Amino acid sequence: MTPSQLLEIKDLHMYFYSREGIVKAISGIDLTMHESQVLALVGESGSGKSMTALSILRLVPYPGRIVQGEVWFRGRRMADLSDSEIRHIRGNEISIVFQDATAALNPVITVGQQMEEILQAHSDISSASARQLCEGLLKEMGLPEPSRLMETYPFQLSGGMAQRVMLAMALTPEPRLLIADEPTSNLDVTLQAEILQRLKRLQRERGTSILLITHDMGVVAQMADEVAVMYAGKILESGYRDSIFRHPVHPYTWNLFQALPRVDQDVDTLLSIPGLPPDLIDLPDQCPFLPRCRKATVECRINPHPALREFEPEHVFACYNPVEYEGDRT
Ligand code: ADP
Ligand code: MG
Repeated sequence: MTPSQLLEIKDLHMYFYSREGIVKAISGIDLTMHESQVLALVGESGSGKSMTALSILRLVPYPGRIVQGEVWFRGRRMADLSDSEIRHIRGNEISIVFQDATAALNPVITVGQQMEEILQAHSDISSASARQLCEGLLKEMGLPEPSRLMETYPFQLSGGMAQRVMLAMALTPEPRLLIADEPTSNLDVTLQAEILQRLKRLQRERGTSILLITHDMGVVAQMADEVAVMYAGKILESGYRDSIFRHPVHPYTWNLFQALPRVDQDVDTLLSIPGLPPDLIDLPDQCPFLPRCRKATVECRINPHPALREFEPEHVFACYNPVEYEGDRT
């Protein structure tokens, strides 16, 4: 890994061994994250985004299993770490936030106690400075009266406040990587935009990297440096945000943009791409978008899923029949 690389996922496969058969939730993805970068992982519901996040932290739920591939974080292979080493990484270097903060917070412990515990578990900071730090973070997330908030129980918070508390909490140990799995998608648009702005500012100031999981292209436009488009457990296209927004070359990505009259619309409700994502049981080694793709040819049907190849520097795609742009291709 080069020094600026923070996280590298290599050929990761993660399957569920269910009674109905093998569910291929992730089928061979590669992802690289750099220091101080926001990578948006985008895709329809069920495409494997959350399982990617959980695989990084070795938190795959039963009966799921990582069957192939590797995850490297700051030069260490996650599979090689002991349980205590991985716990140390989870508490200090990588934080994760989920969509539903109220479920993740302990309802019977005050916000302050929960935040201070995180800090004191990992450093020998005094209680007074821990408190100061926590209040500072709550304030930076735009929460009024942080000192009073510290005495509040999570069940007393609104959804928007709980989500901000959760983000502040995740940032408490100053992680190198924040994994934010649809962190604002159940909030109203105005509040979501405000929270994301604050998160972006903190990210810039501290040089934190964020793996931002979302199905909202508006969020991607606002937050991301890089984008990876996931579909049926595969990355179909990835690269710099601007390059992908300007020239989406995989027909699926192209369809995503066509299907969105406005950039603030969700990828989750893609009625204008006919058909549904494939069944992940007995998934053939073919392009998973094939049944829904209007550009598909016989080449797509007789060949295995193509490897990612370059469209521009730092912009790759996996397709035999990419969308062409005049004057752009050599
Ligand atoms: P996303 O976050 O993109 O919406 P997930 O990563 O949560 O999708 O899920 C990926 C796929 O894994 C889903 O299509 C789902 O069918 C499958 N999956 C998730 N949990 C289980 C489970 N416990 N058993 C079997 N399959 C599962
Ligand atoms: Mg999810």
